Amino acid sequence: PDGSPTPDWHTGFAALGPAFLTHLPPTPLPAPAWVAHSEEVAQLVGLPPGFMPSETALQAFSGNTVLPGSQPYASVYSGHQFGVWAGQLGDGRTLHLGETTAGWELQLKGAGRTPYSRGGDGRAVLRSSIREFLCSEAMHALGIPTTRALCLTASPAPVHRETLETAAVVTRAAPSFIRFGHFEHFAARDMQTELRALADYVIDRYDPDCRQGWSGQDAEGNTLHGNAYAALLHAIGQRTATLLAHWQAVGFCHGVMNTDNMSVLGLTIDYGPFQFLDGFDPGHICNHSDHQGRYAFNKQPQIAYWNLFCLGQALLPLIEDQDVTVAALEAYRPAFSQAFRTLVCRKLGLPGAELQHEAAATATIGQLLELLAAQRVDHSIFWRRLSLSAQDGDPERTRELFLDTKAFDRWLLTYQELSAQMGQAPDANLMLNTNPAFVLRNHVGELAIRAAQQGDFSVVQSLHQVLRTPFDDHPAHRAWADFPPDWASSIAISCSS
Ligand code: AMP
Ligand code: MG
Ligand code: MG
Repeated sequence: PDGSPTPDWHTGFAALGPAFLTHLPPTPLPAPAWVAHSEEVAQLVGLPPGFMPSETALQAFSGNTVLPGSQPYASVYSGHQFGVWAGQLGDGRTLHLGETTAGWELQLKGAGRTPYSRGGDGRAVLRSSIREFLCSEAMHALGIPTTRALCLTASPAPVHRETLETAAVVTRAAPSFIRFGHFEHFAARDMQTELRALADYVIDRYDPDCRQGWSGQDAEGNTLHGNAYAALLHAIGQRTATLLAHWQAVGFCHGVMNTDNMSVLGLTIDYGPFQFLDGFDPGHICNHSDHQGRYAFNKQPQIAYWNLFCLGQALLPLIEDQDVTVAALEAYRPAFSQAFRTLVCRKLGLPGAELQHEAAATATIGQLLELLAAQRVDHSIFWRRLSLSAQDGDPERTRELFLDTKAFDRWLLTYQELSAQMGQAPDANLMLNTNPAFVLRNHVGELAIRAAQQGDFSVVQSLHQVLRTPFDDHPAHRAWADFPPDWASSIAISCSS
């Protein structure tokens, strides 16, 4: 300890007791070094000023010491993986440090084995930890709900994957890391008391309005009334709809949408083989291990709905009404469609078009997505150029992205008609603040990873800074906003991390 003040903790999730978690210390790592950290997240979670990047913090966030007042633990959950019940999983390489008094749970990812490690080594490699650190912060800056990343430390300790790599620890932060799988765990074991305690905990901490109960309609239009747990299921469905709308609008493919990787707070969680689309390929599969394409880009909204059904099944004993459960779940679908249309209309610079001119807006969006797919146009570059075209009135820089320019011009007419119906030109300023210049493309992350593997962490740090303001142009780093190089398509990313 270097004498600097350390964070204060209060009892959050751990108060649920031993059925939910196991207390244990992290396993130390030799010679830890800072790779990167976020001042913004340090402040957000309420760390004392000057704590980052102190020696005390370095040792604590690489798992070599336990901070005063922190009682680390791993939680248990279960889940469906690739559509199949997988039984007990749990934090196999994640330790919760506890909850700060500002209400943020901190977790070390890669801090050693836990009772839930199954065959794993409890470690995370530098490569995937860089991806998680950068993407957490990139998603937040894009306005997409996500767990946050406080810092990233690296150690020379060897870790065996397909090849020999080295260890790293990401310290991540979220108001809660509770997953659908936490509920599935207690439901599958018929542990009703724990199931109810968990649901009550989530409601009391994050969804107090659910105590009013829920009212909705079934498919025939009959009004139904449900209890607080029905309201909770509905609320989680609505948050999930918002999250999926964001993913589909920005072109983010998660890659492993197992039910244990679904946050009840609707956060993007567990960054693994994720990818931002390069060319717009709706059927894109980013996870090398996903042979069936279960988690292909365009299947994500439907998979989320499937996952919500697993959660609904788990909550059914508390909701005590099948029709109410189904109706609460069903509300996900229109919520997703509406949220997606709303986001895309903002990307088009025509906010509100989805409400005032629903049919025309839906047609404009549908025609565009077909066109982008048919010509495999680069997703992020298309939207950014469309924004720049709106700014200077010259569509040429956007048109040149298309092989079939006549098809683009036909779509442009549809877009212009929608704009005319709205009685307003696309809002270029909104577009430039909605369509990022920078997303964490695979090949850009790879550049940072390769430098870091040679001991140079400066690329991770520069990229971190650029991704914090992805709507700015950052002329010094323009290459990171450009088309992927040919070698990008040969990067294979699997679950192994
Ligand atoms: P994931 O696919 O990363 O969501 O992981 C699925 C489950 O496997 C979770 O319970 C993880 O905690 C666990 N897990 C993944 N990798 C490891 C590892 N290297 N050591 C221990 N457990 C792991
Ligand atoms: Mg996971
Ligand atoms: Mg993982």
